[in-house]
Order: sequence, then structure tokens, then C-alpha cells
Amino acid sequence: MHIAMAAGVAILSLLLAVAPAADGPWPTDHPLLHDIAAVVIPGELRSTILRLVDFGTRHTLSDTQSGTRGIGAARRWVKARFEEIGRDCGGCLDVRTPVQTVTGELIPRPAEIMDVLAIQRGTSDPDRVIVISGHLDSRVSDVMNATSDAPGADDDGSGMAAVIEAARVLSRHKFPATLVYAALSGEEQNLYGGRLLAQYARDQHWQIEADLNNDIIGGTTGDNGVTDASHVRVFSEGTRFNETPEEAAQRRYNGGEVDSPSRNLARYISGLADHYVGGLTVRMIYRTDRYNRGGDQVAMLAAGYPSVRFTEAVENYKHEHQDVRTADGVEYGDLPKFVDFQYLAQVTRLNAVTMAALAMAPAPPAMVEIEGAVSHDTTISWTRVPGAASYRVWWRDTTAPLWTNSRSAGSANTLTLNNLTVDDWFFGVSSISSDGYESPVEFPGVAGAFRENPLATLR
Ligand SMILES: [Zn+2]
Repeated sequence: MHIAMAAGVAILSLLLAVAPAADGPWPTDHPLLHDIAAVVIPGELRSTILRLVDFGTRHTLSDTQSGTRGIGAARRWVKARFEEIGRDCGGCLDVRTPVQTVTGELIPRPAEIMDVLAIQRGTSDPDRVIVISGHLDSRVSDVMNATSDAPGADDDGSGMAAVIEAARVLSRHKFPATLVYAALSGEEQNLYGGRLLAQYARDQHWQIEADLNNDIIGGTTGDNGVTDASHVRVFSEGTRFNETPEEAAQRRYNGGEVDSPSRNLARYISGLADHYVGGLTVRMIYRTDRYNRGGDQVAMLAAGYPSVRFTEAVENYKHEHQDVRTADGVEYGDLPKFVDFQYLAQVTRLNAVTMAALAMAPAPPAMVEIEGAVSHDTTISWTRVPGAASYRVWWRDTTAPLWTNSRSAGSANTLTLNNLTVDDWFFGVSSISSDGYESPVEFPGVAGAFRENPLATLR
């Protein structure tokens, strides 16, 4: 060995000796997550959408008795498909169909709202639940028209195809946390299925860490002529839907308006896309949904569950919510030929990777607190969670969109950062399993807490 090199090694050893041992290369690369992304098949997504379109209409008020047409036949098919996937994994899926008869806005006569849920129980932390959802119902121009053909290939056959493909791919593996694959109904009539899911989750005492809601994720060309197959929008609320006036006042004063658990979930998804889904980049949108529009994640947020919405980068308004027709040479309607199955596969990969990453990782730390006023040091502390071997404290400039800096706390439940003034940065903490799976970062206090807000009320 050359003398200078030997000296360099000695200095390096000295540096390593004083640095925290767990601060090695980060983040950990997980072959499992690459494998999961690799086995998502565009042809599977295509065959699901074609099958759903074959039911003619899946309108919430459509026929429930026919074996070939309407929402009843469609949801029975989804149930059978989940059961088939369950047989292939040795009975790993428990298929449930919570149902509610509803009359209300856009439902003038009693209608059966049924969600079809496939539940893959976690091996060691089964009450902790990660959900992927899409909606099965479809519509045409008139939201009350329950008989005309409403193919709903993209809205939301694409989301349903992602849900079913995620079940097929992830059911080959076992995870510490529970995965739920959710086909929701009544979305177009005003989020009835989303509220039914939230109620079911509450009744089951699920601790939902994330709902990944997929609605309109298969198109790449807008009616403005713009094509974008390399981005997906992930919408996340900035502040918790159900914070109390006191919590809102504290958050307004000290910050946290861009650090709800849903927002930090979106950051987590963005990082996974960069690492595991080549060619797809997340556009984080700092909004609950598209402007003045909605989706089932809104019902989940109202119940206090961290949730995001995935939607294609550029929508095509000639295809959504349209009677199938040709006018002045322009084709209207939500037909399978307008779905880009390669792109839909990319978005599905990101969903499957996210579910696996969340389910392999421990829950985010509980009860994260921060202190440091009138001091140049900041101390952050938290309650330990099951399955966490270590914790990592993150911080970023208060105007930065993504977490930029981090330091391992080892297995401790507190860390003091010397000469980092609490005033000048936003801080958070993640949990890490012994095999290096990391949770999303949790911002301190109620504003950032992933645990269900105990004050949440269903409306
Ligand atoms: Zn939709």
C-alpha cells in the first residue's frame, strides 16, 4: 500500500469512528421492490379493463340482477377475480363485501352500495393497514343515466385494473402489515363507496397508514394535444381535514401547513418512483384533488386516514363522463382504445412498490415532539413503534418541497441536533426495520401524525 493511501485510510477510519455507525449508504436498495415492479404486466391491465367494459354500464343505479350487464354483474366478477387470485396464493385473500342501502344526493330511490374488498392479512402487525383503491362505477354525460353504455375504461377501469394487478403481484409475498385491495362503488354519485370503506375500516379498528386512491390513471394524451407518459400526478392535502380549531391555530403559528401525513406520504411515493420505476416521475400536487373536483380519497381524509390520489398527468375531457358518440369528426367516450397500457403499467408499478415498501417498513414513529426554543440545539423525540430497529431524523429548509438532510438516531427515541436552530428548519422522523425498510417521515405534533386522529368523526 502506498504511504499516502495508508494515511488516507487512517484518516477515513478516524472519521468513521466518530460518525454514527448506522449512517452508511442511504437509502437501502431493496431487490424485492425491483422484483415487484418487474412483474406488473400491461396485458393483465388490458384484460381487466376489457372485461369491465363488457358489462355495458357500471352505473351505481344500473341493473344488479343481470349476469352480463350492470353494476351487480361487474362487482360479482371483481369478487370472483379476487377469489381466484386468493386461490393462487393458497387462500391469502379474505374477500369481503360491505354493503349499505342508500338514498340521498344523486340517489333518488334506494340503491345498494357495495364495496368489494380483498384483505391480505399482515404476518406480524395485522391491524396496520395499507389500502389501494379505485372505483368500479361509471357514468355518461348525464350523471343519472343508468342505462346507456358507460364503458369507463379510464374512469375508473384504469384504477380498478391497478387494484387487481396489485393484488395479483403482491399476494405472492408476505408482509408484516395488512394490504387491502378495494373496489369502491357510488363514487360518481358522490363518494358513497369511499365513505362505506371508511366506516368499515372504523368498525374493524384498522389503523390505516395510507390509502392510495387511483382514479383516471391510464391516459397519456389530453384533448389539448399534449402527450405525457412520463409523469403521474399525486394529490395530497396540506393540512389535516379534521384538525380542531385549537390544532389549526397552533399549526398556523408554528408551521406544518405543508406536512400533513398525506403530504409526507406523497413525498415518500415520489422518492420510490425515482428509485424503482424508471421513466416515471411524480408531480406532487399540493392540493387534495383537482380544482373543485373530488374522489374517494376525500371520504377517507374526512375520516382521518392519510390518503393521496393518483391521476394521469394530462386528462382528456372528451373521454371522461361523456356519452359515447362521434360529433363533427371527434370521438367522445371513455373507450379502451384511449388507454395507454404501458403507461398504466408504470403507474401500477409505483402503487405496488409503495404498498410493499410501506407494509415491509414499521409504522412511522408515534407521538413525535420537538423542542428547542431559545436554544441553538433542537431535540426531537418520539414513542417507539413495533418492528422498528432504528429511527432517522430528517430536516429541510422551511421552503424546500422534499426532505434533504438526515441523521440516524440508532435505536434511541430521541436525538439532539447541535447547532441546528429549531426556528430555521422543518424536522421529522422515520422508522426503519432491521432489514432497512423505512417508513414515511412524520412531522411533529398532531399536524403530522399518521395515527388516526382520535377526534375524527364520520360525516
Ligand atoms: Zn373517477
